[in-house]
Amino acid sequence: MVEWRQVAVARRLLASERGTIVRDWGGQVPVVLAYPNNYAVGMASLAVHGLYRWLNELPGIVCERAFSSLGRGSSEGGPLFTLESQRPVGEAAVLAFSISFEMDYLNVVHMLYRAHVPLRAEERDEADPLVLLGGPAVSANPEPLALLADAIVIGEVEPLLERLGACLREGWREGRQAFLRELARLPGVYVPLLHQGEGVQRQWLAELDAYPLSTSIIAPRAEFGDMYLIEISRGCIFGCRFCLTGYWYRPYRERSLEQILALARKGLEQCSKLGLVAAAVSTHSQIDELTRRLRALGAGFSVSSLRVRPLSPILVQGLAESGAHSITLAPEAGTERLRRFIGKGVGHGDILRAVELAAKWRFRSLKLYFMFGLPTETEEDIEGLLALLKEVRARFSRQIVANLTPFVPKAHTPFERKAMAAREVLAARLRRLREGCRALHVELRVEPIRAARMQGVLARGDRRVGQALLRVRRPSLAHLQRALEEEGLTMEEYLREYASDEPLPWDFLRG
Ligand code: SF4
Repeated sequence: MVEWRQVAVARRLLASERGTIVRDWGGQVPVVLAYPNNYAVGMASLAVHGLYRWLNELPGIVCERAFSSLGRGSSEGGPLFTLESQRPVGEAAVLAFSISFEMDYLNVVHMLYRAHVPLRAEERDEADPLVLLGGPAVSANPEPLALLADAIVIGEVEPLLERLGACLREGWREGRQAFLRELARLPGVYVPLLHQGEGVQRQWLAELDAYPLSTSIIAPRAEFGDMYLIEISRGCIFGCRFCLTGYWYRPYRERSLEQILALARKGLEQCSKLGLVAAAVSTHSQIDELTRRLRALGAGFSVSSLRVRPLSPILVQGLAESGAHSITLAPEAGTERLRRFIGKGVGHGDILRAVELAAKWRFRSLKLYFMFGLPTETEEDIEGLLALLKEVRARFSRQIVANLTPFVPKAHTPFERKAMAAREVLAARLRRLREGCRALHVELRVEPIRAARMQGVLARGDRRVGQALLRVRRPSLAHLQRALEEEGLTMEEYLREYASDEPLPWDFLRG
């Protein structure tokens, strides 16, 4: 039973949106696009916007959304229902999860539980929806969710959409087993129950322009809800050795200037501000021209974080003049040696020049991304990071925020076999960084060490980790830790250095 309070929250959200698609389910294959986090986070994901539009455009398919929580006033433990028509999620033919982060695996399990869908793929029958997963983390290493998934899309979904649509229309009528066999025949679709160890080839979209990707639903209650988001490129020309985006989204591809501008014009009819989305916005080959043309349209715009080099002065000026209050740079490490080792490719001088540019345009706030606990890192690198911040402080007098995340090894990157630093080492380095930042009046935002370690277990986990995940009834770190122990697993065995000849759970994927 859907509670009236939940319905009221859903209706309020729907009333606040523009662009929602509400269609009759009659005679169509109902697909629920599920995001395993709350509404505000999910509606900031361009993947959700793109999939919602593309799935609804496929003939014979109707798509509605579901989130792990709708936000304030909504219960997080009750039955799960769709946002658009408030139907129980379990009534759909397909439950398609778009998963952005490893930690959201816990919410995937919890959402299935709330939807009364059996957690194991092998226990589902004709009455249950087919559970389809996609997203960067799960497609780089699907094994922790392999027991739960009927099918997992490896790589990008766009090249598969037409065939996936046909498969859903036909397979749904033919029964579950036929449906799974059809899916397994599609390139890049991994069906764990039928998989015999053969390679699965990652899919990627050759021409970004074939699939315009921008905000589909104006959702003021979402994060960045005041902006119309536009993807301007995908992948990255740099290959920082820790970075999943740099390796798993290869090759680097750009959206054409014409298409970005067409999307911008459309966006400006609905929002006063644009958000340009890319792994490294400033590397778009026409970024200066794009900045000029957006300014000529009178557009205010913002970007996600910027590389320190190349950094277009025209882009920085454009951001300042269009009213952005803060600028985010990503030096990642404090010393030249460590930046070289991780393949960051930016020098000390580049960082200081970027900071001077930020000071010149009088941004109110400067945000800097750093990692700590990186392979080969020593105390000297931590002191180097503080020394760098001191030089930054001397050049930028307003608010400085240092965003610190512990290094987590990711599948398919050159650091995939590296160990994660021990908890005590991370804690000691963090203490020193806290103390140093306090003295420099630099604000610190830190990803908790405990959560980062669990992220490390999930990023390189296997089916035994998956077994533990299925035991977790409440999405919390403590529950997952207990479940791992009950399975006889330790976090250390997943966070250690892996030997160079040791098989990896994701070896069967072809990048
Ligand atoms: S860290 Fe940034 S610049 Fe480096 S590969 Fe990843 S996205 Fe590209």
